[in-house]
Amino acid sequence: MNENIVVQKYGGTSVADITRIQHVADKIIALKDEGKDVVVVLSAMSGETNRLIALAHGISSKPKQREMDRLMATGEMVTIALLAIALEERGVHAISFTGRQVGIITDTAYTKARIKEIKTEYIENALQEGNVAVVAGFQGIDAHGNITTLGRGGSDTTAVAIAAALNASVCEILTDVDGVYTCDPRVVSSARRIERISYDEMLELASLGAKVLHSRAVEFGRNYNVPILVKSSFTNEGGTLVTQEDTEMEKVVVAGISALKNQAKIKFSNVEDAPGIASKIFVPLASEGIIVDMIVQNIGEKGKTDLSFTIDATEMSIIIPLLDKISKDINSAYNIDSDISKISIVGVGMRSHAGVASTMFSSLADAEVNIMMISTSEIKISIIVTAEQTDKAMQVLHDAFELHKK
Ligand code: ADP
Ligand code: ASP
Ligand code: MG
Repeated sequence: MNENIVVQKYGGTSVADITRIQHVADKIIALKDEGKDVVVVLSAMSGETNRLIALAHGISSKPKQREMDRLMATGEMVTIALLAIALEERGVHAISFTGRQVGIITDTAYTKARIKEIKTEYIENALQEGNVAVVAGFQGIDAHGNITTLGRGGSDTTAVAIAAALNASVCEILTDVDGVYTCDPRVVSSARRIERISYDEMLELASLGAKVLHSRAVEFGRNYNVPILVKSSFTNEGGTLVTQEDTEMEKVVVAGISALKNQAKIKFSNVEDAPGIASKIFVPLASEGIIVDMIVQNIGEKGKTDLSFTIDATEMSIIIPLLDKISKDINSAYNIDSDISKISIVGVGMRSHAGVASTMFSSLADAEVNIMMISTSEIKISIIVTAEQTDKAMQVLHDAFELHKK
């Protein structure tokens, strides 16, 4: 374990303009003054990645994914250079690195690539020479040298993966909230900060929509045993430690609630209730890289059934031609409901507690929130509701499980 290395990641709002970047430079200099070797991973300025995507969509409704990655990767190149300039201006040596320059090798899944390997020698050399290493988050290169990106929010993953590769004792994620809350504090104002949370719970919350951490970052933390400290880049108070489950963690049944907005539900009606139909629907989707989430098949009647599933609504432009083809192939019409969200309650305590589902469903019934689909696993229950009822449902569930109380 290398106790002297500090890996910090600053998100988009923390590097939103040059004043904020200068503030980050000051915080890094304080660490250097303590004698630390500092590696900083940065996001693009807040709004920048969205702006770049919109530029491409102004030209094409289906831009090539390879070019999208090249385009999106430019956002982080701006902030790393500016921070290095700000540090040098203050007399502290710094070197900025793109994903390629660090040697962050990924697979070729453009826009959602996975890190396969990180070469540490370049960062280590920079540190040895007394520099701050400033690394572009969210990007890497594949085996052929193509630029790839890690999925929205992926700078967190760059940071935790680098912390793991350098054997750092912790990875600090500095953002615009002072930790992980029981629910998005922008949606539920009574949400409470969690002091410590297990990798498993955080992984579920993150994959189910809590955007405070990228889910792959939590996966890296868990797999390489790197604790992740989420804290504010603006204040020194608070913080949440994501680490292995231990006896000091809160003994709660439900740890948190998250929501994935921007989902879409597709329903094939009157599908023949026969072997092979599901594969005729899902194999073509999988071969185009579409990730299908919840799947519900009704009980068949008179040899026919209905089959519904959800996807991320941003995949809609890719999926419609496929759905048309599938529809002809299985001789069944489909409809799309694109204004839905998935809400999930998560907690390791659910493994040993009965009655969680009944509290969930009865509180939503009392509030007249309609549940469109349900799925459960060992430590979570997810439901689909309309986009319009999402925030209300989160508030209702937060109250029902009394998450505001410790
Ligand atoms: P950054 O740009 O620093 O990566 P993000 O916007 O990606 O920041 O993530 C921080 C945001 O995550 C917060 O502003 C908050 O609205 C949202 N968020 C969603 N769920 C949670 C949660 N459970 N706890 C804390 N923040 C959450
Ligand atoms: N800039 C990228 C995004 O907005 C990556 C990140 O900020 O983590 O998704
Ligand atoms: Mg983020």
